[in-house]
Amino acid sequence: MPYIPQLQPFQARSLADGFIVATSRSGDFAFFSPSEFDQFQSAPATLPLEFQAELRARFLLGDTGPHPGTKRLITSRIAAKRETVLKGPALHIIVPTLQCAHSCQYCQVSRSLQDQGHTMSITDIEAACDTIFESASQTLTVEFQGGDPLIRFDLVKHAVLHLQRRNLSEQRRIRFVVASTLHQLDPDMCTFFKEYNVYLSTSIDGPRDLHNRNRPIPGRDSYERTVKGIELARELLGHDAVAALMTTTSSSLADPEAIVDEYVRLGFKDIFLRPLSSYGFAKRNQILLGYSVQKFFDFYQRGLKRVLHWNSHGVEIREVYACILLNKMLSTFDAGYVDLQSPTGAGSSVLVYNYDGYVYPSDEARMLAETGDKSLRMGRIGEPLENLLQSAVARSLAVASTVENAEGCCDCPYNKFCGPNPVDAQAQFGTLFIPVENTEHCQRHKGLFDAMFMEIRTADEDLLDLFYQWARPAAGVRD
Ligand code: SF4
Repeated sequence: MPYIPQLQPFQARSLADGFIVATSRSGDFAFFSPSEFDQFQSAPATLPLEFQAELRARFLLGDTGPHPGTKRLITSRIAAKRETVLKGPALHIIVPTLQCAHSCQYCQVSRSLQDQGHTMSITDIEAACDTIFESASQTLTVEFQGGDPLIRFDLVKHAVLHLQRRNLSEQRRIRFVVASTLHQLDPDMCTFFKEYNVYLSTSIDGPRDLHNRNRPIPGRDSYERTVKGIELARELLGHDAVAALMTTTSSSLADPEAIVDEYVRLGFKDIFLRPLSSYGFAKRNQILLGYSVQKFFDFYQRGLKRVLHWNSHGVEIREVYACILLNKMLSTFDAGYVDLQSPTGAGSSVLVYNYDGYVYPSDEARMLAETGDKSLRMGRIGEPLENLLQSAVARSLAVASTVENAEGCCDCPYNKFCGPNPVDAQAQFGTLFIPVENTEHCQRHKGLFDAMFMEIRTADEDLLDLFYQWARPAAGVRD
């Protein structure tokens, strides 16, 4: 019987450059000019044979009738993309203290050094560590957040040693990360971190003036002290033992190129052009520090262009947000970025053990609790992991973040790479269930996926090679 190409289920969207992107059930995609798209829909058999073969390989065209082989292939592709959600909590965040020397306007949580009441008890630290081993995941990341965890290095050390002792029999692969300003970092801490393979993550918002404006401390030398910490860490632990994150405020918008250049100057191989989140105290300061989704796009696209500029001049530096998006779009295997998983990884692949004795589904959820919205507490530290994963909060988050349940997502061509972020909805509107297109999360990601698809469509071979390298899970994972 002659092969007559049939349209397979797809979703499509017009891009700003006039082309149309269509995605299939497997998450494969193709670009069409408007006339090609009409032809594709009305008479696919009249498209050039080479293009038909391409569309068939991407599951946009196929035969009539049931094809168990194709169905199995699509099912296994979708399963591979969701694997990170299904294998149990792998990222465990412990918040030993909220104490911090900084008073950043956009910070949601920190407390001054004199404020003694915001520290985790030893009993809770040990209980959190024991819960971590209840996870089925063979590979575990344990991250210490704050406040500034190095202010309570004793608690970080206690947790690492407790986990290591138990791991003698558990034999998991554990990766430790401490997120800190590095102002307190000293050689003794580095010796400990070296012995236990602890990585450091710090904050650099950009050049000195911008960083010091965003992150004030009494001596107005936050930048200098963090850079000193980075240098010490690199000297004693190795160049790649410390990574940096930046937060975009309204002061950052004018000069993304200077921010990227600063990361290059400091020798970082990654930069994450992160938008400001509208949680907690940052929300109160939105008028001062905030900006529209469109302004963030403009900033982001200029920043990405600068990163690509450096790469084309032989400087290896990745933009982490692009890595995350490209991983979703180009890779068969998901890197596990929580905010774009469906159902969400918050409360399933990530758990946060907070200083207040409660477990939260994500870092953002515990930040919300600081402003009085404690509705996302999953349970007390020390409760069996199974109870936490089956808690009402975890179940509601899963329902609210499943693309099949969200009206706006059902027709969205990006629903294989993205999904609603209910924690974001809770922060913005006080409820997990809100029409998805109203949320900043949706508006931002629609725009970012649009932009990345346009980049891919026009990329030459070298740029496409770079994008495939960035899409690999190891490059994309950063929560
Ligand atoms: S959240 Fe928005 S961009 Fe993401 S899949 Fe749903 S509709 Fe699409």
